[in-house]
Amino acid sequence: MTKQFYCSHSDLHLSSILCSRAQAAAVIRGSEKYPDVLGTVLFYQTHEGVIVFAEICGLPDVQRPCYEGIFGFHIHQGTDCEGNMKDPFADAMQHFDLANCAHPYHAGDLPPLFGNKGLAISAFLTNRFSVDEIVGRTVIIHNNPDDFATQPSGNSGTKIACGEIKSLIGPCI
Ligand SMILES: [Zn+2]
Repeated sequence: MTKQFYCSHSDLHLSSILCSRAQAAAVIRGSEKYPDVLGTVLFYQTHEGVIVFAEICGLPDVQRPCYEGIFGFHIHQGTDCEGNMKDPFADAMQHFDLANCAHPYHAGDLPPLFGNKGLAISAFLTNRFSVDEIVGRTVIIHNNPDDFATQPSGNSGTKIACGEIKSLIGPCI
């Protein structure tokens, strides 16, 4: 009997995808209140969907056992990270949504980031959008976990960091 190591319908191998060049990226920066947050989110188009690779440092760390940070992580509809005193990333607007879905079925609803003394690394596959559909939108990190139930945004609290998604297609990057 032959043992199957990979799903038969897929020729996808995550490690090799991550060695190729991403089609789009967002540079993440914290708000004035969270200036240490910094990172990159990369988007790789595959036949099965988009692989998202996020590496974020400087996330809030309370240094208390059993309270390691978990941070809501979404693609938002808005096209820039400007805002106001009350909401520093107000222009990011609501969750990116392609099919008039409720939360957590918006196209832009992503797995939350798990902090490790302020560092989070996450890689996952989603077929809710293509890279072309999210270029020009924004990535937002919230200060609380997403509860994946409350409308319209999972009760994930303040927006602490933001990045605009830019295409990396072209000879000069
Ligand atoms: Zn949502």
